Amino acid sequence: ETIHIQTVSKKYNVFVGEGISQDIAAFLASNFRKLTRVLIITDETVAELHLKHLLPQLSEWNPVVYTAPSGEKAKTFEVYYQALSEALENHLDRKSLILALGGGAVGDLAGFVAASFMRGIPFIQIPTTILAHDSAVGGKVAINHPLGKNMIGAFYQPEAVFYDLDFLKSLPAKEIRSGFAEVIKHALIHDSTFYNWLISNINDLNDLTMNQLSYSLVKGIQVKNHFVSQDEKEMGIRAYLNFGHTLGHAIEAEMGYGNYTHGEAVMIGMIFALKLSEELSGLSFNLEKFTTWVEKLGYQTKIPHHLSYDKLLSKMKQDKKSVGESVRFVLLEEVGRPILREIDDSLILDSLQKF
Ligand code: NAD
Ligand code: ZN
Repeated sequence: ETIHIQTVSKKYNVFVGEGISQDIAAFLASNFRKLTRVLIITDETVAELHLKHLLPQLSEWNPVVYTAPSGEKAKTFEVYYQALSEALENHLDRKSLILALGGGAVGDLAGFVAASFMRGIPFIQIPTTILAHDSAVGGKVAINHPLGKNMIGAFYQPEAVFYDLDFLKSLPAKEIRSGFAEVIKHALIHDSTFYNWLISNINDLNDLTMNQLSYSLVKGIQVKNHFVSQDEKEMGIRAYLNFGHTLGHAIEAEMGYGNYTHGEAVMIGMIFALKLSEELSGLSFNLEKFTTWVEKLGYQTKIPHHLSYDKLLSKMKQDKKSVGESVRFVLLEEVGRPILREIDDSLILDSLQKF
């Protein structure tokens, strides 16, 4: 399956399928005739599992591999610096290309290396997590600063995305859950048909068929693309992608990154936002059915009990997406119809207590 992505700055394809990464060499040969060298940026876990499936076809471009630590540790200044050193020491030039083999962390790192090395060289995303259906589309690339996540980055689009479903077969349950929460988010904010399909067809995340996985990723990517293609630099509707993230980010931060995966925290945030939507924006929704469904899929649906509501609120207020005094939430009027609402602190605290 191929999804065409059209942004203001670039047009490219997302190829989704089992074994699709085997087409990369042919893509390079026909699109980059003067290609001097490729740098593969990956992480320790993914290198061990999947590098051997990618490397053989690339030999004519003399590939160099830079292996970052797994997870969020890939997005530090030190790792960024090392990746650039690797590129320079191995004489990559402006006609070279970067392949990002890994999840969202590797994609963000490799994309930022590509955006900044010699003022920008082409890169290709080869996502290996479900969450990366989100991060690989939209052109945001970044590393972290000790003072904030994703604070140093760029808007930079890949030449293509090769989403090989074979690579997803090794994902641990927690990572599947994390990524699938964003799939569910994409359905809720834009596509009620897709949402109805999900709730009636997906009942075990550890036993997804390749068809279910492929359909879920393709739909999720299409929704993400809908919001970012019209709003590449995040001025308006792109904000709707933040559904569930206001409280989600606060829970993630308060729990300490690494305890809850991003998607697991966002799921709790979505349930909270759905509840607010019922009360404030006229959403008519079977929240009980939803909650039962996601619990069966393995998600937590309540705020971890030791977290303080006051601290969660102050984290929400620090969120760079809140404006002025009150916190801005994405709510739904209907499944598929998001709106932005500023909500007073007292109402938030009240709702957190009742939640
Ligand atoms: P990740 O890249 O850290 O991957 C999660 C874990 O799974 C890592 O430990 C990784 O080594 C492992 N892993 C990856 N692929 C695997 C596989 N096939 N089999 C077994 N293990 C595998 O994280 P993620 O959840 O994919 O993405 C989260 C990152 O994405 C965050 O840094 C977040 O900021 C970023 N993000 C970016 C955007 C964007 O628009 N750029 C959007 C959402 C999230
Ligand atoms: Zn997210």
